[in-house]
Formats: sequence, structure tokens, C-alpha cells
Amino acid sequence: MPLDKDGVMIILSSPSGAGKTTLVKMLSEINNFQVSISHTTRKPRPNEAPDKDYYFVNEDEFKRLINNQEFLEYAKVFDNFYGTTRSPVIDKLSKGKNVLFDIDWQGADQIKNKKLDYKLITFFILPPSKEVLFQRLSNRDMKDKLIAEERMKQFERDVLHWINYDYVVINEDLKKCFQRIKNLIDAEINNGSKDYDLEFIRKHISRLTF
Ligand code: 5GP
Repeated sequence: MPLDKDGVMIILSSPSGAGKTTLVKMLSEINNFQVSISHTTRKPRPNEAPDKDYYFVNEDEFKRLINNQEFLEYAKVFDNFYGTTRSPVIDKLSKGKNVLFDIDWQGADQIKNKKLDYKLITFFILPPSKEVLFQRLSNRDMKDKLIAEERMKQFERDVLHWINYDYVVINEDLKKCFQRIKNLIDAEINNGSKDYDLEFIRKHISRLTF
């Protein structure tokens, strides 16, 4: 049983281009919320700071962490490895901090299956439409439309995992989406009533996957 003083684990996953990383940053600014910093074998992007956005490591170091059983979860995403080490997470939770995870569906499944003694709330973020997603993906990498097309194909596979999440939230307007997630977290923590329409989400998924 989770203790009242313990923090809560909050996972945000999404297909590429749904705006999840920005939402995680916004949530991390709430008092008492902290982001879990992942390890990755991916190379840093120009705007990324080592030990803040990620711990950037090589494959040997990543394998060492796997062999030492230091990961709570890890997965291969696209061509790189990503993983969450256990001890910083448990440390934060036991001090009453709420921990945010920006991880993919494979990691979310692993954490769910661990059935840790901490409350877990999972969110799957979706774009408002395929058209908006394609625009967002094309803007991200102007050099190569092929990458956007490849990510669209990946989207069709990733979206199918929505069913394993507690809540699916549509990111049409960033501020509204943030508020919706925050309200759902508050309601979960305080056992309040939840404003969530599963039928509406099902219809949205059918439109996205048509
Ligand atoms: P990016 O390379 O764009 O930062 O992240 C690619 C994907 O990897 C995103 O979906 C992100 O959520 C996921 N990811 C980042 N860190 C982790 C992690 O520690 N574990 C898992 N399973 N996925 C991660």
C-alpha cells in the first residue's frame, strides 16, 4: 500500500510530435514535481544539456547498468537505448516528491508490471489530428520530409498502445492540455471526481487510425 507521505509516479507517453516533452517541462514547474532523468545512448541535440535533459552514455556504460540491474525499466526506441535508473526515483518518491516520467510505451508497461508500492498514474498524449501531427513533424526537421513520413508510419503503430494507459489526453491547445492533466492528477491524488470522457477518446482514436 502506498503511504500518504510518499510521492506519486506520473508517466507521460506519446507518439513522436504530440508535444509531450513540453508538457513534462510545464508539469515539472509545479511545486513538488520532479522529472526522472533518463540515460540514453542517443547523441545530444544542440539544445540539450547533459545531466539535465538526459545522462548521455555510450553502449558499454548502458550495458553495465543493465548487468548491474540498475534500471527500473529500459527499452530500445528507434535506434537508441533509453532507461530509467531505479535509485533516484525511489529516493525522490520516498521523500514525498511526485516523479514525472517522459518514457515510451515499452517503459510504461515495464513500470506498470513492476507493481511498485507507489501510486502510478499514466497518460498517453495524442495530437488533435493526423494533419496537425504531420505539420509538427515536418517543422521539426525541415531538412528531410522522409523523416516526417517515417514518423507518421511509426505513429500508426504507437497509437495502438493508448489502451494500456489510465488517461488519453489530446494536445490541441498546450495550456488547456496541461490544465487537463493537472486536474486529473489532482483528482487522482485527492480521490476527487474525474472529468474524463472515454467515449470521446475512442472516437478520436478511430479518426486518427482511419
Ligand atoms: P527523444 O530521443 O526524442 O528524446 O526520445 C525518444 C523517445 O524515447 C520518446 O518517446 C521518449 O519518451 C522515450 N524515452 C526517453 N527516455 C526514456 C526512458 O528512460 N525509457 C523509455 N522506455 N523511453 C524513454
